Amino acid sequence: MLKKRNDLRNIAIVAHVDHGKTTLVDAMLKQAGAFREGARVDDRVMDSMDLEREKGITILAKNTAVHYANPDGGDMVINIIDTPGHADFGGEVERGLTMVDAVALLVDASEGPLPQTRFVLRKALEARLPIILVINKVDRPDARIDGVVNETYDLFLDLDADEDQIEFPIVYAAAIDGVASTTQPEDGKVPADSDNLKPLFDVLLEHVPAPEYTEGKPLQAQVVNLDASPFLGRLALCRVHEGTISKGQSVAWCKRDGSVQNVKISELLITEGLERKPAEKAGPGDIIAIAGIPEIMIGETLADVENPEPLPLITVDEPAVSMTL
Ligand code: GDP
Repeated sequence: MLKKRNDLRNIAIVAHVDHGKTTLVDAMLKQAGAFREGARVDDRVMDSMDLEREKGITILAKNTAVHYANPDGGDMVINIIDTPGHADFGGEVERGLTMVDAVALLVDASEGPLPQTRFVLRKALEARLPIILVINKVDRPDARIDGVVNETYDLFLDLDADEDQIEFPIVYAAAIDGVASTTQPEDGKVPADSDNLKPLFDVLLEHVPAPEYTEGKPLQAQVVNLDASPFLGRLALCRVHEGTISKGQSVAWCKRDGSVQNVKISELLITEGLERKPAEKAGPGDIIAIAGIPEIMIGETLADVENPEPLPLITVDEPAVSMTL
């Protein structure tokens, strides 16, 4: 039986550099109350790596988990995958998109869609993911919201979006002020009917499909990226597609070369806010990091030892970026 994780949403946030991804995710985290009292909030949470600072681009897809207590009831986790906008990391964008069920496309209200907007939108359309358009920086004195919305529709058409794909919801935001609205504000004004990002959260909860899974199906989790921890060694970032996975569990590691080896999950981590924390168990739709398999590669599947069924391999087409943490 097909079931849904109604308490979970996985989205990728894509944009041309400087259109406000970091600012928006910061504001979402702050408003969702993900930070404990006294916890340090990095100014630029999603750009924490030196290499990224140097290059001014975001290189490695990372996820931020926003724990959102919906004022209308129900606790939600929204996993936000930060995908690079740069064409050099095309493979990484494609892989990041296999972890999510929708894409938030962020466009600057003055600059409009730029080359990286086009590049990431093309990938999102190819992956047939629902798209939510967020027009950001509506407070800019030189905002030209109508023009930018029209240019974005033109871009969808130019990329051969079909009728379903072009019917996207639009949210107008001034991430810097932590406000959003579904009603178009006047150019250069912040949305008058909102003093927070709740309208954005509402649109995400409505338009991002809840992860689906088949009840009783054995474990299938796919490695989408790698990371390194000084204490735990190689970390494999995975989306669990079916079944559950626990710390200490023996799983079947379905390798790229077609062989299968039984291995033990020594540590299981989930993201809370910006931090990875040890967890006992994860289920379908969850985005996790696992330790204990030093040779594990991108695209490989962790499956049930009795039913080692790999998911289709995903591509790795860019040079590996070395990472030190
Ligand atoms: P990223 O490269 O997409 O992560 O963009 P950042 O979040 O780093 O933002 C780039 C610049 O735009 C920064 O100087 C932000 O302060 C600014 N910015 C972000 N959101 C807004 C906004 O809503 N309004 C205005 N006026 N500036 C913003």
